[in-house]
Formats: sequence, C-alpha cells, structure tokens
Amino acid sequence: MIPKNRLILLLILTILLCHVFPVVAANNQKKLLINNQVINKHLNIKEENGALLIPLKVLEDSFNLDIEWIELIKSINIKLDNKIVKLRVDESKVQIGDQVKELSTPVRMTDGKVYIPLDFIAQILGYKLTWNTTEINLSKPSVQVNDVKYKKTTSGEEIIIYTNKRPRYDIASLQSPERLAIDILDSKLSNKLRDIAVNNGLIFQIRSKQFKTDVVRVVLDLYQPLSYQVDINKVKSGYQLKLKLSPRIIDFSYNKKEKSFSILATKELGTYNVKSLPKDNKIIVEFPNVLLDIVKDHFAINNKWVDEVELVQVEENNNIVAKLILTTDKLFKLNIYNDPKNAKRLIIKPNRLKELLDVNYNPKEASVNIVTKEMVSPKSIPLKKGARLVLDFPETIFRKVHKSVEYDEKFIEEVRVSQFNKEVARVVIDLKELVNYELNTIKDSESEHYNTVVKLELPDDKDNKELIDTLNSDKSQQLQQRRDINHSKDENLKTNRLEDVNIVTNGNEIELNVSLENKSKYKIRKFSYPNRLVVDLPQTINELRQESIVEPKGIITDVRVSQFSWEPAVTRVVFELPYAIDYKVTSKSLTDQISIKLKTQSEESVLSNRTIVVDAGHGGADPGAIGPTGLMEKDVNLDIAKKLAALLRQAGATVKMTRKDDRYITLWSRADMANRLDSDIFVSIHSNAHKGKDASGTEIYVYPGSYGDTLVLAKLVQSSLQKEIDLIDRGVRFNELYVLEETTMPSILSEIAFITNRKEEKLLADPDFRQRAALGLYKGIVAFFNRVAKEER
Ligand SMILES: [Zn+2]
Repeated sequence: MIPKNRLILLLILTILLCHVFPVVAANNQKKLLINNQVINKHLNIKEENGALLIPLKVLEDSFNLDIEWIELIKSINIKLDNKIVKLRVDESKVQIGDQVKELSTPVRMTDGKVYIPLDFIAQILGYKLTWNTTEINLSKPSVQVNDVKYKKTTSGEEIIIYTNKRPRYDIASLQSPERLAIDILDSKLSNKLRDIAVNNGLIFQIRSKQFKTDVVRVVLDLYQPLSYQVDINKVKSGYQLKLKLSPRIIDFSYNKKEKSFSILATKELGTYNVKSLPKDNKIIVEFPNVLLDIVKDHFAINNKWVDEVELVQVEENNNIVAKLILTTDKLFKLNIYNDPKNAKRLIIKPNRLKELLDVNYNPKEASVNIVTKEMVSPKSIPLKKGARLVLDFPETIFRKVHKSVEYDEKFIEEVRVSQFNKEVARVVIDLKELVNYELNTIKDSESEHYNTVVKLELPDDKDNKELIDTLNSDKSQQLQQRRDINHSKDENLKTNRLEDVNIVTNGNEIELNVSLENKSKYKIRKFSYPNRLVVDLPQTINELRQESIVEPKGIITDVRVSQFSWEPAVTRVVFELPYAIDYKVTSKSLTDQISIKLKTQSEESVLSNRTIVVDAGHGGADPGAIGPTGLMEKDVNLDIAKKLAALLRQAGATVKMTRKDDRYITLWSRADMANRLDSDIFVSIHSNAHKGKDASGTEIYVYPGSYGDTLVLAKLVQSSLQKEIDLIDRGVRFNELYVLEETTMPSILSEIAFITNRKEEKLLADPDFRQRAALGLYKGIVAFFNRVAKEER
C-alpha cells in the first residue's frame, strides 16, 4: 500500500513529467527479433520523436555487452572491441573513443529505468534496424565484402568485388566530380580497405567504405564516364562481382617508315567493320563497344595516301562505337592485323603499292633511269660477284611480269626488272665491272612520274677521276691494294678499316662520329630525295656488320654502311635525315676520328618560346615537412627545382623560379608571378609527408575539376617521373591547393616522394636521385609541349 500523500506526490510528479517530455513520447510493447530470432515477446519500449528507445537492461542481456552504469553522473560506458562509448542521460552528445557525435534522441531515464536510443546502438553494433507497430527487427548484413581489386589481364581491365555470398547491387553514375558508385546491398565490409590508385587514364582511384550500416559502397573516381559490363561469378572462396571495362583505345600512332597506323587498346580488339565513303574520300574503321581514351583525336598525316586521321566516339543504337576515319585522295584497301608482338596493338596498313613503270638506259649520260608512278626510295646493293648492281624498290609493284633489256654497251650488259616478292620490285643492272655510282630521284614535272637515276661513274669520268685522285695518289699503291683486297687480305698492307659509327645526342646537338683504324681523308656530301648525309671513306674496307652499327638516334632516321665500291675500295656511311639539315665537319681533313655536327631543331626545341614557372615549395621560415633524420623539405624542393630549371633552360625555355634561394615567399606571390608572366605552365615541387611513416610514392596534384591541358600535363609528368625514379605510383589526384587554384595556366603540384618515409628521405637526400626527379619532370614537360606543338600545327 502506498500512503495517500505519497500517491498524490507521485501524481503531481507524473503530471510534471508529462510537461517535460513531449506528448509524442509514449510507452508501448513490441516484439524484438535479432537476426530473425525472437529475443523478447513483450519488450517495453519508449518512442520519442519517431525514434525507439529500449531499456538498458534488455540491451545488456540481448547483445552480451560490457556495460557500466555510473549512478553519480548518470552515465553509461559501453565497452566495444577497441573503444569506449560514453552516453549520459538527457545528453544529446555521445563520445565514441576520441570522437564526439550527435544522437538523434538522448538517453532517457524514467521510473529509475534507463532507455537507450536503438538506432544508435544498431549503428555502432553494425545492425540494420527495421520496425513496425508490432515488431522490431535487428539484423546483421548477410553479405561480407572481403576485398576490392583492379586487375589488368589479357582479356582487359576489371574491377572485382569479392564477397562471401551472391551480392545484390546498385550502380549509379554520379557527376561533378565524375564517379561511379557500386552499392553492395545488405553487406558489411569485413575489414577496412585501402584506396587503390589506378590512374589508368580513365579511373584514378577506387575507394571502398561502409556507406550505410548495411551498404558497402565502392566508388570509382573517374576522369571520364565509364563503359562496362557486370558479371557475377561463383568461385571457391565465394563470389566475384566483376565490372568489366569496355576496351579502350589508349594510343594511336603513325609509323612513317612502315606507312602504317597502329591503335593500342586495353585489350585485343576483335571486332571491327571497314566502310568506304567514296563521295567524301573517307575510309572508316568502326570498333563497336570500344571507348576512345586518347588526348588527341585529330592527326595530320600528309603522306602520299592519307591526309589526315580522325578518331571519334559516337553512340549508335545505345551502343558506343569508336571510329577511325582516314581522309585520303583515293580510296584503297586496308590490311588490318594484330601486332604479332602485342595482340593489344592493331596495325592498319594501307594496301596501296606503288608502281614501277619502266626502265631505260641513257648511254650519253651513262645512267639507268627507273620510272615510278610515286616517289620510292630504293635500296641499292652493289654485288661484286658478277659485277651487279641491285636496286630494291620497297612497296612497289611491277605489273609486267618481267623485263629484260640487253645493251651492247661498253659498261652495261643488261638491265632486268622483276617482282622480287609481294612488295618489292627489283631492278638488276649487270655491268661489265662494278663501278661507282650515284643515286638520285627526280620528279618529272610533265608526267608527274618519278625518275630514279643511277648515274654510273665511269673510269674516265672527270668527277670520278678527282675522287680517285684524292683517294690514291700513288698508282702502285692502288694496284697493290687491289691485289690485297682481291687475293690476300694481308693485314700488314695499308688498307684502312671502318671501326665504328656512332651518334651522340646532347640537348639540341647531334654529333655523327665515324672511327677508322688509321688516319685517312674522307668526303662528305649531302643529298636530297631522300635527305641524307653521305660519308665516303677511301681505301677503307667495311667489315662492320649491319647489326653492330649504331641504332638511329635523335632525328637520324637510318644509318647504313656499305662497301660502295671495291676498286678503289670505298666504304660509304649513310645517315638518313628527316629533312635537309645543315652540317659542320669538326674533324681535321686527315683523321681517324671523323666528326660531323648537325644543326638541328631537336625535339626539345618545342620549349623555345615557352615560359615556365618552376616553384620550389616552402622556404625561409617555412621548412615544409621534416624527415626522420632532419632533412628539410624546403632544401630538397629548391635543389630539384634548380636542376629542373637548368634542364628546361638548356632546351631553350624561358624559366622563372618563384625562389632561387632559401627564403619565404607567400603562396599568393607564387601564383601571382606565374599569372603576371603569362607563363605557359606552372610546376610546383614538393616532398610529401604523412603521419604513417610507411606512406611512400609519387603523386601529382591538380585542382579539383581540372581537365584538358592540366590533366594531360599531370598525367605525362606523373608517368615520366615514374619512369625515372620508379617509386610507387600514387597517381594524379585532386586537391584544393592555393597555388593550383590561383594560377590561370595549366598547373601541377608534384610530390616527388615522402620525406617522412625513412627510405625515401634517404633518396631525397641523394643528389643523383634529385637529378633523376628533375629529369622525370623535364621529360614530362617536353612530352606535354610536344603534344601541344602538334596540336598548334
Ligand atoms: Zn610541401
């Protein structure tokens, strides 16, 4: 029995309490189910503002939790695996470990009973909460997401999500920034996954997180929209949800020598259709379901057959199609095949042979004239045996089956023409004896045909006499030599030998070196059609094998060495040039080291007329990040910046540095300098830092939402840095950095390596490494301007 006065007091209290709590707060009973098992049939619960609160006692029993009630301050401590959750009665804030969060409803206490907000408990314990008027359901997600990977296989690129059970999913494409969200429904991330830096030109990273209590979200941060197919496979360890990326065309190139186009894709391109549009003089190769992922899509080719090439992406009947469009003067067939060395490369070769029309001999000029419909550069092979001169015309067809003309001349016996193989027409000139000759191609302005003129230098020819005179003043020696070469090959006799042919490139300069066994005179001449530089070495035998001769380098497109003639012995070295180039002979007239300097416009000349601002991060009072042994970021940045500036200047660029010494410069004035100079690009150099000492690698930052040139610059610099310093590729990332935001030109911020990582600090301290880093930045910048220059043309 309760005494009457106390009963009245209780009544008053109840009324008061009813005023304190909103009317929506009500007590009722519901059935509680955890993972579909009935835990409590008549659970007393409280509802407040649409949220459920359950008694602390029930929570403790049902979930087997370690809960501490501190009466004095009306607080609850819940011990979870690795942190403590602290709640207080009527307090809307909750402390989880060292974080503070807001509750939807505070903990309440009525009649000495403590009620806990169920949504919060479900969240921290990883349960999904659903309820209706009679039931409360708490259930753990049934699918576990174990791993997410990006794989590049022969069959293409895939993003694989590994789960224990068959996953249900939603995929949404999100914009600004461009990304794809894959939601795995009713799932839990089994452990925290690292972000994956992909940086394949399409996806720059993959992030995975527990998006909601029962949804794992995998986000692909993209450079551009994605095309893909989804596949679910059952495997031994569970299931794989695969996002198979449609093949992408990632490179297009034109091989001038082969006159072929090549398309590089992320996987083998199996299907394509070729169409011709005779009216527009266009040939089109269509690749269904292929994504175009190249920076440049328009190429001026301007060879004899193809004026230009365009690559376009179109959508036809809800399918994407990549198209290669060739604009040409005349339609022709294409040979299309996979590169035998790399199936992902597709070679497209116009099948349009040139035509050899006729051959004739001009006795007056002592020249054989070979008429072709198009410009062809034949390869000439003098054969001592049988005294023959063989001329091979590549990619040429001779439609008459055979032509043979006999001449009853003093020096020439017969000229024969035949189709040597499918693509080579061969002209053989049978001589009485092998003589010197010169090859020139002339365009006949009337017929528009080309004449390859083989001018034989006959023994009584004045020019030839002069050559022979310079070569051999002593007639007896010449006779002696003839005997040597033909019969004995005696080492003691004075016959020179070609020892080496070398090309040295240094910035803008190219030096051609020819080394001989003994000192000798020599003759250097320049020819056109095709452009070449010829070095004739008298009294010299060529014993160098073609494969031991230096590979073409710089602008030199080909190097050939041949025994031009035997009597007298002349070895000829030919350097093929892309265009007429001035040269200067720097060696003495009698030497065993012939040296020729070419005045070229090398690749780097794309940097002349360019202004580049190089920004060494931090400085002065701001040391930047500091490494474990005390190396300061500001010093590393400055040294790399100086080295980069030197490389750029050497290649002809105008370089301004935001600082040249150890001083403090505001971020504003760094960006302002670049803007005032109307600089072409802005390159900021930094060294990275992270709390975790293991963080490592190279990354480039661009301002969020950057596109076009900035992104191209970033990607090219990142990949060339990668080649030079070979650290972990962390890719191109977006970050709202002041200097990137304020500069008005393409601007990037490079984090070369982590100064906070012991290993990388050691690298950053090494001058050689800094030089390589500078070189990596430099090469990326050159590649960028090369691309820009091509587009400007
Ligand atoms: Zn920094």
